Amino acid sequence: MPQINIAVIGAGMAGLKAASTLYNIGMNVTVFEKSRGLGGRLASRRTDFGHFNHGAQYVTARNPGFDAFLRQATDHKSARNWRPNLHRGDIESGSIYPTKETSQNPDTISQLDQTAQTSTVGNLAVDCWFQGAPQMNKLIHPLVDEFGIKKQHRIIAIEPSGPRQFILHDDLDGAFGPFDGVIVSAPAPQTADILRPLSPRFDPIGDVVMAPCWAVMVAFEKPLPTAFDAMLYPSPEISWAARSTQNEGVFHTRTPDPWVLHATPQWSRDHLEEDKDRVIEKLLSALRAASGVKLPELHSIAAHRWRYARTEVPLGKSYLNGMNGRVIAAGDWCLGARVEAAWRSGQTAAHAMMETLIG
Ligand SMILES: Cc1cc2nc3c(=O)[nH]c(=O)nc-3n(C[C@H](O)[C@H](O)[C@H](O)COP(=O)(O)OP(=O)(O)OC[C@H]3O[C@@H](n4cnc5c(N)ncnc54)[C@H](O)[C@@H]3O)c2cc1C
Repeated sequence: MPQINIAVIGAGMAGLKAASTLYNIGMNVTVFEKSRGLGGRLASRRTDFGHFNHGAQYVTARNPGFDAFLRQATDHKSARNWRPNLHRGDIESGSIYPTKETSQNPDTISQLDQTAQTSTVGNLAVDCWFQGAPQMNKLIHPLVDEFGIKKQHRIIAIEPSGPRQFILHDDLDGAFGPFDGVIVSAPAPQTADILRPLSPRFDPIGDVVMAPCWAVMVAFEKPLPTAFDAMLYPSPEISWAARSTQNEGVFHTRTPDPWVLHATPQWSRDHLEEDKDRVIEKLLSALRAASGVKLPELHSIAAHRWRYARTEVPLGKSYLNGMNGRVIAAGDWCLGARVEAAWRSGQTAAHAMMETLIG
């Protein structure tokens, strides 16, 4: 096979799945990532007492290919089974990751502690939940290979160079290429900014809707007095609250006791431009009200705003291509709101690129 040069924009699950698939069949792949780290929304923040997973919390597999990936990652110790003692709030069953707001859960954590429910959501048992090990961003580890990875490179434009090649431009006036094919795997609005000037074939990306999410990382000086390690919709403001401390996948309370809170999509939208300190104050107050307990003293606290967190309206197909099939848009938003959707989109985008370039 003649040398084929591929650029992949974005080093989340979708981009890295595409990159490793094309690299493994002999293409020359370069990944461009705007951040310092890899993994995208599979994100972890290091502290002096362990990691907070402040993006995706756990992954599940509904398709055999992704199931095999998770099991292989588990064998290589970059994933592990995750079995939190889960309280499920008032949420419509059948969806582990709702795209619709649910009604208020009037119960308090302390009341719920007395009436522990089974640890299942919809029909997906907690037994089938996985996390990256030791922290979430390690889940991409099996996909990282010897291909080039250019971190802290934000790509802002793709310029055609002759009929079949492309030059990438970053925000520091850098130019890279030429490349025979480009896969863009940023969240939909960011992918649209790069691709819509190139061809009207990418216009449908504008119909994708992604919701924001405020995340709060709080460490309590003493363990939060609840029997649960994770709570789905504990309050109208909070869609998810989970203890981050684990040892080999087993929860244990120790001090400080670190928790991650995720605000609901609607609350996050309503407070998108609010000051971090105010967001922290309001979400802690929501947790306090829902739990009915006095929250322990704070050891540390921080907030992170995910502007594009969860797909609410997906594209409806696993990738979108243009420029004679040589430029492809991929990402979770093509199919849904989950890590598995990103993996599947990255895989099919890579196969589509192979089909175009080598038939
Ligand atoms: C708070 C939160 C909670 C979640 N919880 C879950 C969950 O429990 N289970 C689940 O399955 N899913 C969950 N998700 C969704 C899951 O994280 C995503 O579906 C998945 O990680 C998306 O992968 P991706 O590769 O498509 O995109 P991303 O992970 O967003 O990767 C895109 C990458 O592109 C980079 N990038 C963007 N623009 C540029 C540019 N111009 N140049 C270069 N690089 C660029 C970004 O920095 C990023 O690294 C959650 C997401 C969030 C935010």
